[in-house]
Amino acid sequence: MISFHIMTLFPEMVTQGLGTSIIGRGIERGFVGIDAVNIRDYAFNKHHSVDDYTYGGGAGMLMQAEPVFECYQAILREIRENGNDSPVRCVYLTPQGRVFDQRLAYELAKEEDLILLCGHYEGIDERVLEEIVTDHVSIGDYVLTGGELAAMVVCDAVARLVPGVLNNEASSDMETFKDGLLEYPQYTRPEVWHGKKVPEILLSGHHENVEKWRREQSLLRTRERRPDLLK
Ligand code: SAM
Repeated sequence: MISFHIMTLFPEMVTQGLGTSIIGRGIERGFVGIDAVNIRDYAFNKHHSVDDYTYGGGAGMLMQAEPVFECYQAILREIRENGNDSPVRCVYLTPQGRVFDQRLAYELAKEEDLILLCGHYEGIDERVLEEIVTDHVSIGDYVLTGGELAAMVVCDAVARLVPGVLNNEASSDMETFKDGLLEYPQYTRPEVWHGKKVPEILLSGHHENVEKWRREQSLLRTRERRPDLLK
């Protein structure tokens, strides 16, 4: 079981995005918890605004430190009340972070609780980031309007590694990146489609030969599409 605590200005975006299909089922069955918390609820002014102009000038607004900090404190209190006394990682989704990959997904899947912080506008006041963030994580070298999509990517990739979330445990065992390689090509019925036949070896029922073929195909595909992984 893993609980994601997502600090965001748009909680409905996150809950709707993660509430369907396999992750949605994982939530229903209690393997995954999604706690999307609205940072705006911790605004300290009567207009409920959470952003302000940037010192030093420049276009765009910045999220203020205090609402983010208060929101974080409330989440942490709840985690402690629920009996988790261990250090809790707080991941800030940012284009300036370590690029998310399957290795980090496996690492994060070991956590009981994970706090994910989504920025918006020009980002967040640096001072609160210094106080609460343990990991800076990017989902790629491009700039999004907000951290919500990035948080959803992380939740999806991490949640499917939590035991019980995937029906067939083997399906995350064999797949791309598991052993540093891309997955081999796969086929389902019919045996012939558009004149293309399923490779004979997969119909042979010879388990050992099938495994050998798959391994070869994985290597070939990785060399062709992602030679950087072989290094
Ligand atoms: N001014 C920031 C900069 O140059 O680094 C970019 C801010 S971006 C417009 C707004 C928010 O989107 C960020 O605070 C972050 O939470 C999120 N974001 C944007 N690109 C991202 C990426 N590649 N990975 C993860 N989060 C991203």
